[in-house]
Amino acid sequence: MFLEIDSVSFAYPGKNAPWILSEYSLSMEAGERVGIAGPSGRGKSTLLRIIAGLECPLQGSVTLDGRRVASRDIYVAPEDRQVGMVFQDYGLFPHMTVAQNIAYGLFRLRRAERRQQVVTMLELIRMRDLAARYPYEISGGQQQRVAIARALAPNPKLLLLDEPLSNLDATLRADIRAEMCEIMESSRITCLFVSHDLDDLAALCGRIETL
Ligand code: ADP
Ligand code: MG
Repeated sequence: MFLEIDSVSFAYPGKNAPWILSEYSLSMEAGERVGIAGPSGRGKSTLLRIIAGLECPLQGSVTLDGRRVASRDIYVAPEDRQVGMVFQDYGLFPHMTVAQNIAYGLFRLRRAERRQQVVTMLELIRMRDLAARYPYEISGGQQQRVAIARALAPNPKLLLLDEPLSNLDATLRADIRAEMCEIMESSRITCLFVSHDLDDLAALCGRIETL
């Protein structure tokens, strides 16, 4: 298995804090696109944060590409997991241009390689001519594509997407679903989506699980 979440339990700190996840398990094969459906407040974002290394499970383990990244006595930092994340609100840096946002995670590359990878990503999302714009100067759908490009740029093993279409208006949504499928297919990356919207998941994923 490429991703193995094994009996993960989690609660946020605090006295009498409720269990957000209770012995949750999920397995994914490399190249799969899996969707996790669940109503608001169920713990979908928390699950992604645990996989990305932004939270630590209290019990259980997470194994990625044969490497244990989280368990009782193991914690691998987010930057060492090779996991990309697209946040629900995209989380673009407002003071950076499109190109600078995409380059953000490429600090390990030399300058020329970094520049080349930014161009490759801009072409993938078909926004080469908008490289110098700031996030407030582009549409919601374009911001979403930049967030995907930023997450994909460092060549992660796994891409996590949190409610990727929820901030888009309904008329844009169908177009963007198709566009996203294209981007995912051409990058051939293993993707885990979470959403409360089953239609979005059905359009984007090969398999849907519930939380
Ligand atoms: P979902 O993404 O499915 O809407 P979340 O993972 O965001 O759910 O949240 C699950 C539960 O955890 C919610 O009840 C939420 O209020 C709570 N929660 C989320 N973040 C925190 C936090 N930092 N501290 C305490 N509780 C939190
Ligand atoms: Mg959420």
